[in-house]
Amino acid sequence: MEFTMQIHGISRDLIDLLRSVGADRHPLEFVGVLREEDGIIHELNLLPGTISGEHSASLFVDMMPLDLHVVGSAHSHPNGVIRPSNADLLFFPRVGRFHFIIGYPYGGNDWGCFRADGTRVDMEVIG
Ligand SMILES: [Zn+2]
Repeated sequence: MEFTMQIHGISRDLIDLLRSVGADRHPLEFVGVLREEDGIIHELNLLPGTISGEHSASLFVDMMPLDLHVVGSAHSHPNGVIRPSNADLLFFPRVGRFHFIIGYPYGGNDWGCFRADGTRVDMEVIG
């Protein structure tokens, strides 16, 4: 099933939250799923584990009930590289269409949004 809700952007509050969670967890990584309402990505649900680690976030995604408001994922890169890793490219298609990477030092521009295949997306920040 393809979920085709048009996404207009991500709320500024959520971007700020992603940056502060990234800074709080540093030097560890966080992973979460993102939910939208009325086409605005506005909510983070943190998952236990990491994308590539022993307790992989993929396991928890597979156990989640189907939620049509889930549009993608967000996770941090404590190494500051705003680019999907090979593990990310395996994880992204399981979670949705839009994937945010938040990098050290978690400043206002230290993030990027990518499609499931890893291509960069210009995502509008709203609010
Ligand atoms: Zn990653």
